[in-house]
Amino acid sequence: KQWVYKFSAEQTDGNKDMKALLGGKGANLAEMCSMKLSVPPGFTVSTEACLDFYKTNKEISKEIKDQVLESLSWVEKLTGKKFGDVENPLLFSVRSGARASMPGMMDTVLNLGLNDKTVQGIAKKTGNPRFAWDSYRRFIQMFSNVVLGVNTSHLESNLEDLKEARGVHEDTALTAADLEELVKVYKSVLLEDHGIVFPQDPMEQLWRSIGAVFGSWNNNRAMKYREMNNIPHDWGTAVNVQSMVFGNMGDTCATGVCFTRDPSTGEKKFFGEFLVNAQGEDVVAGIRTPQPINNDSKMESNKHHKTLEEVMPKAYADLVEDYKMLERHYKDMQDIEFTIENGKLWILQTRNAKRTVNAALKVAVDLVAEGMITEKEAILRISPEDLNQLLHPRLDPKAKKTLIATGLPASPGAASGQMVFTSAHAEEWHKAGKKVVLVRAETSPEDIGGMVASTGILTARGGMTSHAAVVARGMGKPCVAGCTALVINEKEKTLTVKGKVYKEGDYITFDGANGEVYEGVVPTIEASITADFATFMKWADGVRRLKVRTNADTPEDTKTAIQFGAQGIGLCRTEHMFFAPERILAVREMIFAENEKDRKKALDKLLPFQRSDFAGIFKELNGLPANIRLLDPPLHEFLPHSDKDQEELASALGINVKAVKERNDALHEFNPMLGHRGCRLAVTYPEIYLMQVRAIIEAAIDADKAGIKVLPEIMIPLITEVREYSMIKDECKAEIERVFKEKNHTVKYKMGTMLELPRACIMAGEIAKEVEFFSFGTNDLTQTTFGLSRDDAGKFLPSYTQKGIYPRDPFVSIDQDGVGFLMKHAVSEGKKTNAAVYAGICGEHGGEPQSVEFCHKIGLEYVSCSPFRVPIARLAAAQAAL
Ligand code: ADP
Ligand code: MG
Ligand code: MG
Repeated sequence: KQWVYKFSAEQTDGNKDMKALLGGKGANLAEMCSMKLSVPPGFTVSTEACLDFYKTNKEISKEIKDQVLESLSWVEKLTGKKFGDVENPLLFSVRSGARASMPGMMDTVLNLGLNDKTVQGIAKKTGNPRFAWDSYRRFIQMFSNVVLGVNTSHLESNLEDLKEARGVHEDTALTAADLEELVKVYKSVLLEDHGIVFPQDPMEQLWRSIGAVFGSWNNNRAMKYREMNNIPHDWGTAVNVQSMVFGNMGDTCATGVCFTRDPSTGEKKFFGEFLVNAQGEDVVAGIRTPQPINNDSKMESNKHHKTLEEVMPKAYADLVEDYKMLERHYKDMQDIEFTIENGKLWILQTRNAKRTVNAALKVAVDLVAEGMITEKEAILRISPEDLNQLLHPRLDPKAKKTLIATGLPASPGAASGQMVFTSAHAEEWHKAGKKVVLVRAETSPEDIGGMVASTGILTARGGMTSHAAVVARGMGKPCVAGCTALVINEKEKTLTVKGKVYKEGDYITFDGANGEVYEGVVPTIEASITADFATFMKWADGVRRLKVRTNADTPEDTKTAIQFGAQGIGLCRTEHMFFAPERILAVREMIFAENEKDRKKALDKLLPFQRSDFAGIFKELNGLPANIRLLDPPLHEFLPHSDKDQEELASALGINVKAVKERNDALHEFNPMLGHRGCRLAVTYPEIYLMQVRAIIEAAIDADKAGIKVLPEIMIPLITEVREYSMIKDECKAEIERVFKEKNHTVKYKMGTMLELPRACIMAGEIAKEVEFFSFGTNDLTQTTFGLSRDDAGKFLPSYTQKGIYPRDPFVSIDQDGVGFLMKHAVSEGKKTNAAVYAGICGEHGGEPQSVEFCHKIGLEYVSCSPFRVPIARLAAAQAAL
């Protein structure tokens, strides 16, 4: 079996598509050799060898060792040098490289093969003892750190001491004698403090380094990183053993990194940094200020430095030729590492460059224009979730910040302002022109005003689908929820975090994209939408089948969503209209009504409000469909809790406060989410839905008369049984017919139901006979399928994902096996009994890329999500179709 793959200009076993076996770095080294770029020859020990290493109790098997030895002598022949030879020693770098780039794995060891004898050989051969000793001390540092596990700060402090003693700032100013001295010190520190004799045998150095790279696959840092990024543990890592070239031999040598385009803007500008007489990571380690490779790369910090183009014009010209070739070959922006030895350029690594979203969009659009990739390829280049960065303000990455706590990344965007602890204060302070952050244990529908007035919402309790999270996402406001480290005292108006007390008015900043909360003000960068974004989204829209609608309750939200490309409303929650101050009293009068007559009286007061809301929404939609859900939440959400509210209601009803309190108690439910809500309200109080359908149809008729096309879809929530639905439908239809008659005008409308309870999905075949559409309410469907209260899940659900019991939070990404099974069943059974029935999704999942892909697969007609997620869903839907 082949465990080791060679690479050189003469012979190459691998290629760029063998990342699984050779790791990203190894596959690309092989590819570059085939392209005849100057790459120092070497070999890659495969990821399979890594897995074998774990199988055989962390031993490198004889078969693998033999192949390594055979490849080693092959490299010796190619280079004319010998590993461990005293006269003309061959040195290697040992570099790890997994399938996906993975910080936390073992660092690279350079100059392997040096020892007390070979260092002399190198000194003599090159006539450059300073270089020889510099390489040796670097080798001891790196080997000690990554293979021997010694904290290098113990060694590095000696380097700093030496520089101080010599009165120099840069290590290039140290002499050969200084560095030889340093090597002695290093070795004695290793011996005295750690009891380690630095290994002199090059073969021992090599085996131990290979073993250490394999071993690092399962170190804590790497495991954590894989868990966070859903990378399987059974991939293993490859090891690249590569002959060294030297950037630290003097002033005709250098090392550097470059990008084929500007990684922060995507502009077509060759960009990079380098250092003369340096090695390895010196450029990124910030040991000296790196120099710009050309004028385009100059920055404030290095604008007076000489460029590579100026100091080594030949090597620079070669680099330009190579980068162009690499970009054309890989058809993407590359991040390239290079070293120049005595004027000759060597390429040491290439990979697709990391970039900001703005840069990613620009590069994708430019590459299509340059004819390098197709529009379809471009669509697949951007991760939908990344679009978030474009649509919301974010923290300045360069800003200093003090992290005080971390919660759930509930709604993206950065927010910064003075903290307030009540919605009333949020509104007052906002009116006074202050920027506020609403900090609460949790929010309820009564906080809507305060949420609108704040730049962001921070809560101590609640999960990703808590009230704060859902409403903030809908508003496009940043929100961190479930930040359990926060202790909020609403009475005293204080926030305590890990013993430190903050007062109302103190500044606070948080990032809703990662859940991090910071003290004070951290500068933010505004969102910006570019022409490239528009072009790109047009391509995406051209390939997708799924329609994308929005969840919107107001004309403003509707307008925003349409600007983001929404093709209608997938969920309009009528009850959100009930909380405005001038309406809530009427709502309460309705709830407290003792009989139908009083209830109707209260409903009559609400009718004009609802009608005008719908009129506004229809106007914005201008012919796009509007799925309107009739009243859904348990009534207790609307009850008056404060003394003031109770007194107000008592006087409006002409009863005393005690009676109001009693009624409050009577409406109490043990399990309101499974209680008297949704269509169950209509079963007991049919007048409520009749008022709502009347408001919808009257508004629709008015719009129609005014020449605005309307397409209302009336949706009945929380159905479990077809008879429940038919009864309510018949009543609603009768009312609608009455309105048609009164107005002597008809409009088209549809009626359907939400599928949000397991029984409804199971019975979908029956229900489909009576409805025109389905909409999956996956928040409740997830809650009820799992038997998992979403308002309480924050306390234990995180442990489920951490321990891998649930691969992902089922409220974030649809549980395709369980909840998804019910959805699939409902769609296929529904179509059997009613071929015309169509289905959408209106849960929070409608804007999550993996869930969108699932919805595409099971044949939904549309997804619906909050306005700010519409572009994300559009892109996800396009990718699902490719
Ligand atoms: P990382 O995965 O952290 O990028 P690398 O394996 O690319 O680590 O090594 C880091 C740096 O070490 C490279 O950018 C290069 O400067 C230097 N390096 C690695 N191998 C060699 C080599 N064969 N000759 C000279 N320098 C090397
Ligand atoms: Mg590194
Ligand atoms: Mg590298």
